[in-house]
Amino acid sequence: MVKTTFFACLPPISRCHFLSTLHYTTLLLSAAMSVPTAAVASATTDMSVKKIAAHLKSHPGAEVIFMVGAGISTSCGIPDFRSPGTGLYHNLARLRLPYPEAVFDVDFFQSNPLPFYTLAKELYPGNFEPSKFHHFLKLFQDRNLLRRIYTQNIDTLERQAGIRDDLVIEAHGSFAHCHCIECGKIFPQHVFKSKLSEDPIKDFVKCDACDELIKPAIVFFGEDLPDSFSETWSKDSKWLREKTRTSNKSNQDQEPLVIVVGTSLAVYPFASLPEEIPRKVKRVLCNLETVGDFKTNKRPTDLVVNLYSDAFAEQLVEELGWQDDFNKILRAQTVITDNLKEQLLDIVQDLEDLSLTKTEDEHSRDKDTQPQTKVHNQEEDAEEEDKSSTKNSSDNK
Ligand SMILES: [Zn+2]
Repeated sequence: MVKTTFFACLPPISRCHFLSTLHYTTLLLSAAMSVPTAAVASATTDMSVKKIAAHLKSHPGAEVIFMVGAGISTSCGIPDFRSPGTGLYHNLARLRLPYPEAVFDVDFFQSNPLPFYTLAKELYPGNFEPSKFHHFLKLFQDRNLLRRIYTQNIDTLERQAGIRDDLVIEAHGSFAHCHCIECGKIFPQHVFKSKLSEDPIKDFVKCDACDELIKPAIVFFGEDLPDSFSETWSKDSKWLREKTRTSNKSNQDQEPLVIVVGTSLAVYPFASLPEEIPRKVKRVLCNLETVGDFKTNKRPTDLVVNLYSDAFAEQLVEELGWQDDFNKILRAQTVITDNLKEQLLDIVQDLEDLSLTKTEDEHSRDKDTQPQTKVHNQEEDAEEEDKSSTKNSSDNK
């Protein structure tokens, strides 16, 4: 936190490079939050949720920009790897990291890639399912009310919940493709992923052009954020300014909202987004604590909701009367998950059948093509049996 306060004094451009190196510190800290199970909503929080619903009802064309962090994924069971005692922490500790964040340090990765491979094995997309809040985001997309999601998470759960690629900006990259840490050559996802099934992992994927290591396109310490982050935010902030021009009558029904959820807003440049929101745009923060610009430069129109993200989604859905659509999405997800499980079981069964059939085929082929060997073996077996029975009879004496 001290580091963050210091860097927060720098102008945004200067912070960008230095603080992009710090985002995993906060990612890890945020991930250390406990799994949301229940939350007590204060009267202020209840009022804020009602006000958000009232805004969306009275501005039926209002699109929303979401800015999200690790807090929206903790209920998905993303491992808490910061606190001592978790499986992942122990895994990393066994690998003798000099400090936990070293796992996301390019220089350390270059000298010892195993800890990152171990972590990637745990966190790889597909190991977790989206939370209620992720499905709540999909509800906004289905209603054409989603302008964009800016996420600090690398778990790709937004995409897994069905959010369109053009509507989500993964500020800290993702596992979607890989690149060489030396020459930058791009490689497909499976090049890295295929190594993760090895146990133990013996060697590491290298570039066929320069023989350096390859890693997924998630942002490590000292690496720049993807260009799409600043390019899209530049477009979206311009859009926000245009939407709040009171001279344009069509804007009256479309006054946008920006909702910041599940983030400690301590990691730059992501944390500077809320302060760059035009003052005429209503900002919402949903987090257990009031943080970042919502704390230091509170605006009169700010709304703060001290709830876990899933509870916030449930309450807002209820206020908006969207329960039927929300339940449909949740049920569809359950069916998809069940279907996937069934498909996997079918595949396993097919593979078992295939292997049995193959063994039978090989057996009959052996019979047809190797009669001499078989006869020879039978003779050997008979000899062995004779020897054995002689031995047994002598043993019994
Ligand atoms: Zn290379």
